[in-house]
Amino acid sequence: MTLEHRTDPESFFASLKDRFRSGEAADAEFSVGYRIAGDGGGDWKVTVGEGGLNVEKDPAGFDDCHVIVHTDLNGFSGAVRGGAGDRGTFPPPSIRIETVRLPGSGGAVGIEPDLTPSVALRLFDRRRPAGGNRPEELVSLKVMNAIDQRFATGPVMGRWFAGLKDRKFLANKCPECGRTQIPPREICAVCRVRAEEFVELGPKGTITAWDLVYYASPDPLTGAIRETPYAVVYVMLDGASEQEAFSLELKKSDIGNMKIGGRVRPVWAEKTKGSYEDILYFELDD
Ligand SMILES: [Zn+2]
Repeated sequence: MTLEHRTDPESFFASLKDRFRSGEAADAEFSVGYRIAGDGGGDWKVTVGEGGLNVEKDPAGFDDCHVIVHTDLNGFSGAVRGGAGDRGTFPPPSIRIETVRLPGSGGAVGIEPDLTPSVALRLFDRRRPAGGNRPEELVSLKVMNAIDQRFATGPVMGRWFAGLKDRKFLANKCPECGRTQIPPREICAVCRVRAEEFVELGPKGTITAWDLVYYASPDPLTGAIRETPYAVVYVMLDGASEQEAFSLELKKSDIGNMKIGGRVRPVWAEKTKGSYEDILYFELDD
């Protein structure tokens, strides 16, 4: 048995017509150019619109394409055979996607959801190797790739997080209008000047509004669902400027007594590390 290590672009693009599910394509409209470098590569243009498919070899140009995919034979084979859509990253490093224009737009830059691999999986049947002698799939592994990254907080948010570590709320103050911003932002949003002076607010404050949540969204980082109901209070920390409320959860046992104008104090984690988790919640300050 021989294993096919590379997908031949010529036969791949030739197979598209037979695999096209026109019934799925009624609302799809896009044009993608492929520029595949190397021996056996070349230029192709795939256009889907009005429920139909057009595949063009050596098109006159890519001007009317939404995106152009630049890759080589390895990148192309990998994308086609990898079952694009169940991998951790798209596109892989050997593929560069150039956005020319977006469907229905004047040319804004970005990746349009309709051009992602999941659409390809919907519009086309899976490719079967020619000859009927299908290789046996021995192992199938689903892998979610995690990338270990460090993010810089920058000088402004860095001060804010360092403040939390010291159990302090550090806002920055505009040199022109004097308003405080919490969490701090580099520029005063009203005066558009740099706000480099930091002042400590609170730690106590006054509730100006509250939300009582009965249906919680999953935590975007962990997927965990919070216990409901829970309350989020908007707190004007002592010393804060108007409109600069800071919001956080209220202690569950205080929910029955929360009211606009109520006084609260923060409850800090036993061990702080310079993150939002350093503030556990606010509690009523009776
Ligand atoms: Zn200002």
